[in-house]
Amino acid sequence: MSVFEHPDFDRHEALHFFDDPATGLRAIIAVHSTALGPAAGGCRRWRYASDAEALTDVLRLSRGMTYKNAVAGLPFGGGKSVILAPDNRPASPDLFREFGRRVQSLGGAYITAEDVGISVDDMRIVGEETEHVSGLPQEGDSAGGDPSPRTALGVFLGMRAAMKNVFGDDSFAGRKVAVQGVGSVGHELCRLLAEAGAELLVADVNRRNLRRVAESFSVTEVAPTDILFADVDVLAPCALGNVLNSETIPRIRARIVAGAANNQLSREIDGERLAAREILYAPDYVINAGGVVSVAREYLGHSSEDEVLAEVGRIPERLEEIFDEAAKTGRPTNVIADELARRIVDESASDRRRIA
Ligand code: NAD
Repeated sequence: MSVFEHPDFDRHEALHFFDDPATGLRAIIAVHSTALGPAAGGCRRWRYASDAEALTDVLRLSRGMTYKNAVAGLPFGGGKSVILAPDNRPASPDLFREFGRRVQSLGGAYITAEDVGISVDDMRIVGEETEHVSGLPQEGDSAGGDPSPRTALGVFLGMRAAMKNVFGDDSFAGRKVAVQGVGSVGHELCRLLAEAGAELLVADVNRRNLRRVAESFSVTEVAPTDILFADVDVLAPCALGNVLNSETIPRIRARIVAGAANNQLSREIDGERLAAREILYAPDYVINAGGVVSVAREYLGHSSEDEVLAEVGRIPERLEEIFDEAAKTGRPTNVIADELARRIVDESASDRRRIA
């Protein structure tokens, strides 16, 4: 498996591969860029079909974090880690401690937090071995803790901005939203949408998460194979990436795609495919930045929960600017967002060179 020739290798600054037989830890940490600061991004634990799939995931996710942190105006670069799970059983505390030691060995170049398959409790164990961790429970009204509710809030507010753009009004009354994946973020998003009066269609491959959401809110369950193509106003991908591609896009019926999942587009050209079908796509790393705003503020310290909420409240403005620019130039929203992110990173890198 080639790394330097890999289609998703984007001059990542560093890739670290760990294999610890004693604890069973097999992990990759990718540092994509530290141009804006230490590389911050969550840790995903997943049962990958192959090592190659894990490598592709971490390469793409870490680049996405560079872009996400840049557009969110955070003083952090982009990184990500993946832990390769051998089966569906939970990992041992020893494995998470070992992971913490490996994060610590990078000396702060990479800062970790929760992502798919990792709980706040897991991160607390990681935090026994490294200070370069965020997303831990906090005291009083300090920023921090599980980032998922902040991510969900940002997606909810961003979805409203997209509705205003497409329908001319942002009321959820009488609107149908399909939520793919009702885990940490999807569940909380359903709560916000239900309170706002939306009609909810949901799907998940995890029966327990599906039951939890069905017991809490009025929802219609849809088969995981059908949810992307439901007859709804808004589609919210909140499971894994690569759901928007040449096979799925022609069958999507929603006018808006706005969800939490990272790397929703399989390829950049899929943004063009959505635009050609007049489906408004809210770039994933712009709309789902609420969680990273929370973990970043927690890591930097001295921030209150109110400050985090105020910052999450700025996500719709950023999306509106991207939607306006896309409408003005006739170019897809993902391309506009990528250019904005790259501009921010490049300007900071050239400022640093000038200072040096
Ligand atoms: P999670 O693991 O709690 O939930 C994901 C859910 O998706 C699970 O219930 C899982 O069973 C379900 N799922 C997986 N494959 C599915 C499929 N094919 N069809 C339907 N459901 C499926 O993860 P999460 O923290 O809620 O994150 C969801 C997505 O949002 C991920 O892509 C994550 O990277 C992204 N994200 C999360 C945060 C955060 O704060 N947690 C922040 C930014 C982005």
